[in-house]
Amino acid sequence: MKLIIGHLYADLMNIYGDMGNIIALKKRAEWRGIEVKLKVKSLKSKIKKGECDIFFFGGGQDQQQSLVASDLESSGKGKIIKEEVERGIPLLAICGGYQLLGQYYKPHNRPKLPGVGLFPAYTVAGDKRMIGNIIIDTQFGKLVGFENHSGQTYLKKTGQPLGKIIKGFGNNGGDQTEGCIYKNAVGCYMHGSLLPKNPALADWLLEKALKIKLEPLNDSLELQAHLQALMLK
Ligand code: GLN
Repeated sequence: MKLIIGHLYADLMNIYGDMGNIIALKKRAEWRGIEVKLKVKSLKSKIKKGECDIFFFGGGQDQQQSLVASDLESSGKGKIIKEEVERGIPLLAICGGYQLLGQYYKPHNRPKLPGVGLFPAYTVAGDKRMIGNIIIDTQFGKLVGFENHSGQTYLKKTGQPLGKIIKGFGNNGGDQTEGCIYKNAVGCYMHGSLLPKNPALADWLLEKALKIKLEPLNDSLELQAHLQALMLK
């Protein structure tokens, strides 16, 4: 069995340890004897339908986001990513990547960036940064992470939040929601990186990508890190 991971804009959108999500997906598949191939899809790349089994889109600063937003639109990659998610391909997007998969992202004192329109949400940069450890309650149990963003994301009526805030700011620091889940796509503000400390979500994404039920792993180390993060101030 083989897993092909499409790493979106890996050279431009990869901050606060987001690469750890790729490592977690890769290792958790390899520990189960599954061969993994990584494909970086950035400014000069094309994405063919059916080429990738899962996509990952990391966080980034406003400057990189404007480059990426225009490439998503002009290259047609945004449209293909949306079509792939519509047919059930899983995706994880963190922070800046999450913002660009909504309807639009309006950075501070910069022009509005077009979004892909995958998540029913939009983002406007506020004048304060939301920084710190975050814990949310979700269908995967509690998820732990770290956030650092000025963008305030608001879900449309049809938008399903990934979870409810237990600790931290989340989407906008006001409505107690964090992230968005649409079909098998998850967007959120949780750096950390997210997946190594939240194995249930990592395996859910892998099972959607591989279309199989995975044997459980010995997650004692991951769960130690998870519990540690739950106790952080
Ligand atoms: N530039 C965006 C913001 O500040 C995203 C930052 C990030 O990816 N951490 O909200």
